[in-house]
Amino acid sequence: MLRNTLRTEELISELQSFGTRLADPAAGAESRRGGAGPSDHKAVTIDGVTVMVPVHTAPAFESPYFIEQPDAFGRSRVLRDGLPVGDVSFPLRPRFYDLHTADGIPYSKIAVLHGRDVLATTVLQSCVRYESRAKSCQFCAIGQSLAAGRTIERKTPAQLAEVAKAAVELDGVTHMVMTTGTPPGKDRGAAILAESAAAVKAAVNLPIQVQCEPPDDDAWFGRLYGAGADGLGMHLEAVTEAVRQRIMPGKAQVSVERYFSAYEAAVPVFGRGQVSTYILAGLGDTREEILGVSERLIAIGVYPFVVPFVPIAGTPLENHPAPAPAFMASLLAPLASMLAAGGLTSIGAKAGCAKCGACSALSTYERGHAGSGGCA
Ligand code: SF4
Repeated sequence: MLRNTLRTEELISELQSFGTRLADPAAGAESRRGGAGPSDHKAVTIDGVTVMVPVHTAPAFESPYFIEQPDAFGRSRVLRDGLPVGDVSFPLRPRFYDLHTADGIPYSKIAVLHGRDVLATTVLQSCVRYESRAKSCQFCAIGQSLAAGRTIERKTPAQLAEVAKAAVELDGVTHMVMTTGTPPGKDRGAAILAESAAAVKAAVNLPIQVQCEPPDDDAWFGRLYGAGADGLGMHLEAVTEAVRQRIMPGKAQVSVERYFSAYEAAVPVFGRGQVSTYILAGLGDTREEILGVSERLIAIGVYPFVVPFVPIAGTPLENHPAPAPAFMASLLAPLASMLAAGGLTSIGAKAGCAKCGACSALSTYERGHAGSGGCA
């Protein structure tokens, strides 16, 4: 592969910060638009690592990067300012996308492929935090894919089980992410995640990570684990109260300290490295603030999955800049060292975003520390 001066992790960081233009937007699996969490990106495989690269965002339209039409072997050259800097390929469109449920709903409206081998679903595609833009998380597009008809609001346990079984059998998915909008009520979605995980586990042997806000009662962690969840994500998104109040005023009603008390209760249930949090870099938290909170998280066994913020079209933050590649490198390199020292690894995770790793170059930085730390 051509590399010029860019190492794999640098090329991934650059592509994730700048995004890319595409000669053939239809190459490989469909790109992801809208939905909960990071979006507006497409799965791309670089040096055997599949990552999500923004393609529908404002920075992507102006990106110095351009991916050419795939050749006969499915490889595409990546150009930066017109000069080749590497080769990529695109994961194929999964076969389960061609199927429908008995009541006529396309499987792709129930769950989608993330990265290379992750089945992902938003069990409940609505959220109490999304009722008004004054309260909603400013980066979130959970309502957009629903409004565009690309998904359905509530995926039943039976539908999820049917799709998960097909995705394993037809496309070899190896783990599943179940997230949810936050429903009214104190369990914050844990109850619907528990019933969904139980149904999938009854149908197919597939590791599952569930993701929700900290529920009111820590007993939910045991219930989720007992229902078949192998991992749990409770996502801080931003680490300081000031940034949380500004970017996610509704969700910030649950304090950082409540997240920490929930982590301390969840880790003994799921195990070290099986509880994780998503941290969006580039929203205002400094490098030191993110690394400081990550150090606390790692000490209690929580994997801080730090990803570059992606400005999703149609959200209040669509014109917010993505973080510079140098800022991401200054975060991810020391974070990989901290993870190695703490004995947490992405490959040690049974399921979920830390294991997938596609939204960040973090796991690529981790590979530079292979052998220097234990397995989670
Ligand atoms: S890291 Fe999480 S959100 Fe990103 S592609 Fe993987 S499963 Fe999806």
